[in-house]
Amino acid sequence: MNCIFCKIIQGDIPSQKVYEDDLVMAFHDISPQAPVHILIIPKEHYSNILEVEESQKELIGHIFMIAKKIAREMGIHEKGFRIVMNCNRDGGQTVFHLHFHLLAGRQMHWPPG
Ligand code: 5GP
Ligand code: ZN
Repeated sequence: MNCIFCKIIQGDIPSQKVYEDDLVMAFHDISPQAPVHILIIPKEHYSNILEVEESQKELIGHIFMIAKKIAREMGIHEKGFRIVMNCNRDGGQTVFHLHFHLLAGRQMHWPPG
C-alpha cells in the first residue's frame, strides 16, 4: 500500500519518533504548525476514523492516553495543548492514515481555521 505513514511505521521513511508501543507510534510532524506538533497514529492502517469499528474503539482511548503521557513528558500539560483529528476533504485531511495531531507551545485560537 502506498501510504506515507505505513512507510514511517515500517521505517522506510525516516521520522523523529517520540513514542512507540505495539499499537501506536508518535513522531514530530514534518511541517509543524506550533512549537510542539506531534502526530499519533495507530500501527494498523485505517484511512480515517470512519473505518474504525466498534470492536476497535479501545484503540482510540489508548491514543488519547498516549497523548496525555506525551504531553506530561514534554512538559506541555500545564499550559495546555490541543488534539486535532481531520476527516476527509472538509475536515482538511491530507494523509489517509488515521492520525491525531498533538499541538502545543503557543496560544491556540477558536474557531479553528
Ligand atoms: P492531515 O492534514 O491529514 O490531518 O495531516 C497530515 C499531516 O502529516 C500534516 O500535518 C503533514 O505536515 C504531515 N506529514 C505529511 N507527510 C509527512 C512525512 O513524511 N513525515 C512527517 N513526519 N509528517 C508528515
Ligand atoms: Zn497507512
